[in-house]
Amino acid sequence: MRDVIRGLHHLTATADDAQEDLDCYLKALGMRLVKKTVNFDNHNVYHFYYGDEHGTPGTLMTTFPYKGWGVPVGTHGAGQITATSFSVPGGSLDAWGERLRDMGLAVVDVGERFGDEVMTLHDPSGLVLELVANDDDGRIPWTAGGVGPEMAVRGLHAPILSVRDSEPSVSFLTDILGWEVVEEEEGRTRLAVNGDRPGHRIEILHTPDAPQAVNGLGTVHHVAMGVDDEETQLAVREELVGLGVGVTPVRDRQYFRSIYFREPGGVLYEVATIPPGFAIDEDLGSLGTDLKLPPWEEPYRSEIEKGLAHVVY
Ligand code: ZN
Repeated sequence: MRDVIRGLHHLTATADDAQEDLDCYLKALGMRLVKKTVNFDNHNVYHFYYGDEHGTPGTLMTTFPYKGWGVPVGTHGAGQITATSFSVPGGSLDAWGERLRDMGLAVVDVGERFGDEVMTLHDPSGLVLELVANDDDGRIPWTAGGVGPEMAVRGLHAPILSVRDSEPSVSFLTDILGWEVVEEEEGRTRLAVNGDRPGHRIEILHTPDAPQAVNGLGTVHHVAMGVDDEETQLAVREELVGLGVGVTPVRDRQYFRSIYFREPGGVLYEVATIPPGFAIDEDLGSLGTDLKLPPWEEPYRSEIEKGLAHVVY
């Protein structure tokens, strides 16, 4: 399977409180809410999509705020995406540190990786986020969220996968999904697809002694990679099935179509179509304004709206 994965599409996390989640990603990090909908597998829970102006694949972080539904706090560990990194301009981390502390977010570390400065913080649900300061990102940022272009988030940098044995996980990406190893350092392998740049990277951490991850509040559920169309997605699916990988049927996510499968280290991957995107049911200027439901949930709208937490943003 060569040259079909265009880059990262989105990353989805299980979050806690809906309002705190919005405050973190919109107010503190300055991202755009590009869609407010519900979890298509549980319409009592929101699904928030954060990204750039258009909700461009590779800029998207999405959350299911599950507070009040009895979901326990998850365990960070092997077989999981243990950090989500965002790309920010080189030299912006001092300003970010000040901003995040003012907003009450916990900055836990500042270090260096592959020559770039990296700031680690925790979001209100306990997700580990990183801001990677770099000069390799030409994406146009969303700046209407109160964060200026000199520091605004450009999109995803790379998800960090922790696995007990990195070799099979690296091989799965290179041999089956067409990624390439581009850099290695201290138990960490960086891979890239369709160009080595932020939004096109995954990092695999070799963590043989890590506890087994458990999905729950404050953990990443999966990462999605983008493909051009449904035909390509079906070809990817067929190839995976042929290799004995368990893959779900194609699911309609309204803004893209999805298939899901696990890589050898246990991390859940999704391959999502880049079309149709977020402007199919709202104008570009008003993305994220109203609660949008897929056609099959519309008959239940009043019941759904009653059950969802009241949020302001
Ligand atoms: Zn997804």
